[in-house]
Amino acid sequence: MSLNIQRFTFLIVAFLLGVLYLIFGYYHFSQQEKTASAILRAINSQMLETSYHLSKDIKSINDIATVRAMLDRIASNSDFIESIFIHDENEVLLTTDPFRRKTISTNLLFSNGLSAYEKLEKIEAVEEEIRFYEGKRANSLKLTFVLDKEEISQYFSKRKSKFLVYFGFLPIFILIFIWLLLRHFVVKPLEMLRQFAYYQSEVPKAFYLRELEIIRYSMVQTFQRLESEKKELYDMARTDLLSGLANRNALKEYVERLIANSARDNKEFALLFLDLDNFKDINDSLGHNVGDELLKKISSMISEAVRSNDFVARVGGDEFVIIVEKYHSIVELSAIVERIQKYLAQTWVIQTYPVNIGSSVGIAFYPKDGDSLVSLMKNSDIAMYEAKNNGRARYHFFTEELNKRVQDSIALDKEMRKALVEKEYQLYYQPKVNIKTGAIVGVEALIRWISPSGVITPDIFIPLAEENGFIVELGDWVVKEAIRQQRIWREKNIDVIISINVSAKQLLEENFIRDFKNMLVQNRVEPSKIDIEITEYLFLQNSDKNSQILRELHDFGVTISLDDFGTGYSSLSYLKRFPIDNLKIDKAFIDDCESVEGSVFVETIVKMGQTLNMKVVAEGVEIKEQFEYLKAIGCDQYQGYYFAKPLNSDDFEALFLKQKQTVNAI
Ligand code: C2E
Ligand code: CA
Ligand code: CA
Repeated sequence: MSLNIQRFTFLIVAFLLGVLYLIFGYYHFSQQEKTASAILRAINSQMLETSYHLSKDIKSINDIATVRAMLDRIASNSDFIESIFIHDENEVLLTTDPFRRKTISTNLLFSNGLSAYEKLEKIEAVEEEIRFYEGKRANSLKLTFVLDKEEISQYFSKRKSKFLVYFGFLPIFILIFIWLLLRHFVVKPLEMLRQFAYYQSEVPKAFYLRELEIIRYSMVQTFQRLESEKKELYDMARTDLLSGLANRNALKEYVERLIANSARDNKEFALLFLDLDNFKDINDSLGHNVGDELLKKISSMISEAVRSNDFVARVGGDEFVIIVEKYHSIVELSAIVERIQKYLAQTWVIQTYPVNIGSSVGIAFYPKDGDSLVSLMKNSDIAMYEAKNNGRARYHFFTEELNKRVQDSIALDKEMRKALVEKEYQLYYQPKVNIKTGAIVGVEALIRWISPSGVITPDIFIPLAEENGFIVELGDWVVKEAIRQQRIWREKNIDVIISINVSAKQLLEENFIRDFKNMLVQNRVEPSKIDIEITEYLFLQNSDKNSQILRELHDFGVTISLDDFGTGYSSLSYLKRFPIDNLKIDKAFIDDCESVEGSVFVETIVKMGQTLNMKVVAEGVEIKEQFEYLKAIGCDQYQGYYFAKPLNSDDFEALFLKQKQTVNAI
């Protein structure tokens, strides 16, 4: 069994307490003994003196009474003598205490083996002979001092309690004091050091005792050093020494955490596997030094090329993995990859050697292409080889289908932008007709791309333009073109409202309203001759800003149409909240209007629109039955192949004039 410090100090203190008590006890008893023998001696000498006086004073037994006064004085003067009497063999002749008559014959005064204190305790009286001459005859009487036992024991017990007070408690106080000092300066600091050594949690404050303080200080130093060494080791285990990038371990940790988070939040991310194209040749021809330096430069270049929240790791000689979490579209992701590849494709100068290097990238997505690091690495690696097979310096998505779509989108993206510069876009106009009168009241401007290889319809490129933001630029062109057309028609007396499709992104552009108003003023076009078609998608976000923009346009005099009504995120509340003038029922409902549910839906929209003071426009009317039906239920306007397809401006003008004549003729 080992002692702990607490117990050890307790034992020491207990031992000290014992020793102190022994010393004090010994002192006490020897003091007591000394006092007792002094008392005995005093009594004894008193008695001798008395008996000597009596021997001189007593001449005959009859004289006895004369010494009484003297005995009285002695008895009352002495604290420890209760009474004195003189007696012979048979009877008491004289006493200072009339009640004490009986002879007490104990005399242990000279017995050996008893201590003075014990004697004092046991002896009740001391006796002495009084020798005197009665005439010539030697006679003797006995003198007895009866001790005042009560007084004596009181005297000693008083001393004892005084002693106890002074010496009995003092050691306890001293030891408690020592105990407290030890506790405070030794026991507690040691306990804190122990805790610190165990848990390294709280660094103890400086200690008072130097040795302990030295131990504490060196412990703190050691732990700090260990901590930084641990961190260094940790970093080293996670850092690629050559490039300073994360290594495989770090990548594993990062991706595991990311997968857990993404699984929880239902998110995806992309893992890009990048491999340098001809690194081995460089290494072989120019040597490892050059190769290493190139890798270092490339690593830092990749770190710069990615955004701050993307993660880069070097996982092999010339292989890198980049994790990209935040991208709005695959096209945007492709742009990131292209940027990295372009950065790397520069001519590097390493130790005066010009070096050209390309990179191939394979891309896999969590969770679509793999739900673990291993499967994502494998599949992005496969995709990377595909990119190399296709002729290096390319990137490739893991799934062929996605790959094709992305490559197509990217090609389309380029073409689409080029087409604007080369003026290949044109607006077509599809009439909106008043169902009752048959008069053309407006047209919807619909964009067409007249490419060298044929006409391309907007479903092909508008979604991509929405995705990559090109819609803003293209939409500007549409607005400008439609307003220009409106000015021409005004001059030709063709009085129609032109509806322009405006995407949410375009509408939320900073200067949209300002530019739009300026254009109207410049072309002297009445705002009421322009209608803006928006979709419900706009209401999904930013609803305060949206409603403010719509209201401003509406106050300016432009009408607002809600396009594709019924297909989106319809919430009837915004019909009341936003300034909407026209409701366009989506073609899908018109197609379905022969069925019971379809007709109920269409009729409901028509009634509701009219209750809310809106005009209801049916889209995609293709056949007579649909037209008749809409007329019967009181729909306001219609649009569709039944009346006319979207037409270029010349064809529309011809149609308009012809229609005007027929309507007038009726
Ligand atoms: P949208 O705004 O719903 O336009 C109506 C679409 O239905 C037009 O297709 C039109 O040609 C077509 N359509 C009209 N009547 C009929 C019919 O009777 N039968 C059938 N099958 N189709 C009919 P388009 O021109 O291909 O436009 C497609 C979409 O592209 C438009 O849908 C619109 O969302 C978008 N778009 C077109 N031009 C622009 C534009 O200038 N700006 C913006 N932001 N989007 C545009
Ligand atoms: Ca439209
Ligand atoms: Ca529509």
